[in-house]
Amino acid sequence: MKNERRDFLKKTGLLGIGGFISPFSVFSENQQKRFQFQQNSYLIKEACVLSMDEEFGDFNSADVLIENGKITRLGKNIEGPSYTEIINAEGGILIPGLIDCHWHLWTSLLRSMAGDSAEEGYFKMTARYSRLYSPEDMKLAATYAIAEAVHSGITCISDYNHNARSPQFVQASFDAMAATGIRGHISYGTYRDLPDSQPTDFKGINELKQFIDSNSKYKGISLGLGSRSVNYNNLEKDWKHARDLGLRITIHASSNESQKGQITSLFKKGLLAEDVNIIHGNAITPDEIKMLEDTGTSLTMTPYSEMRIGYGLPKINELYEANINCCVGIDTTALTGNAHLLDTLKMLQNLANANAKDEFYLHPKEVLKMATINGAINLGIDKKTGSITPGKSADLVLLKKSDINFSTGNKPYHLAIEAALQENIDMVMAKGKILKYDGKLTGINAKDLIIQAKNRFAEMEKEIN
Ligand SMILES: [Zn+2]
Repeated sequence: MKNERRDFLKKTGLLGIGGFISPFSVFSENQQKRFQFQQNSYLIKEACVLSMDEEFGDFNSADVLIENGKITRLGKNIEGPSYTEIINAEGGILIPGLIDCHWHLWTSLLRSMAGDSAEEGYFKMTARYSRLYSPEDMKLAATYAIAEAVHSGITCISDYNHNARSPQFVQASFDAMAATGIRGHISYGTYRDLPDSQPTDFKGINELKQFIDSNSKYKGISLGLGSRSVNYNNLEKDWKHARDLGLRITIHASSNESQKGQITSLFKKGLLAEDVNIIHGNAITPDEIKMLEDTGTSLTMTPYSEMRIGYGLPKINELYEANINCCVGIDTTALTGNAHLLDTLKMLQNLANANAKDEFYLHPKEVLKMATINGAINLGIDKKTGSITPGKSADLVLLKKSDINFSTGNKPYHLAIEAALQENIDMVMAKGKILKYDGKLTGINAKDLIIQAKNRFAEMEKEIN
């Protein structure tokens, strides 16, 4: 960014925490092709559309009309109103915006910081750093994570905030999502060193709920409960309290062999239902798979973090063959290193085929479902997003076939899952607003954000040593 522009932004107060400028301005150095990013009406022309909507199906080449943030038409040779800007997507693959169903956004400053001894491992390391965070740091970390999410084609995130030291620590996630323009769900969790004897902060949860409900800028971002562990004494009370407030519930359960039987315990207490998102489940048993099926409970796998931390392999084959709403998530870049969700899907597809010893076992469309329509069902927003369907929100990702690793071939599902890198994601749109265009983020000054994240991490490093 040129210095004059920076000074101008500083003077006008447009440059603030996280490197935001006024929403949806462009920070591309190449400004020749400048759209009016403030708007939310476009006509996308001649894309290969993978709608993830069984009724509408897929198109080798189709147009998508977006008006006031919503998809209004999908089909061939669509003409938009004369003022509509046209996005030429010829040769590109259009998929729904990806939905990440489990992520601890605040840990993003600690990228690949899970070290090589018991003291330096993921849990102890994050516990140490967590005490240094302020609400401003929480917002910076969430913004840094969301910027990478958008870069990776993610337009909706379920953030499990487990550094929830006060309502302000959780509001930080709301502010980051609202400023970047993505959809989301934010679970108000606990924090690393909260003693079991201390009750869950329902006073704070209530306070935050009232605040976000009364402020329209948080539309499209919902609050949930990040449940304490299955062994917590007052679990049933907490869940009743949450449900009385209309909050969906997320819980880590049956993550590894030492936690075997946790899903059974939830089932026996009558707690499982469609508003529950079980995280991990690497140690899920056949009986427990049936319990999730019978109750309509969703399960989210976060394969890269689960494998990296030694929880074991995700039970992809058993879960896929059952009638469970399976979803995926990044979990934490402290373990995964990056947020390339399409790569997570590729890994699941490959693992499933390897387990089945069958080249044709799992089609890439089945894993793409997990990060689109299934994610929307998990969060109770499948009427609004999760597929390219007229009437739904314009949450879209355009992969352009013009890069060295992404040019030949004509099997779009295979290309999207197997070949695409984050760099091949040309455009990302959420609620009809363009958040990435021509491969570059709009609305977020990535360079500035990276400097802020690096500086704050360096300060924390000093504080901790
Ligand atoms: Zn987690």
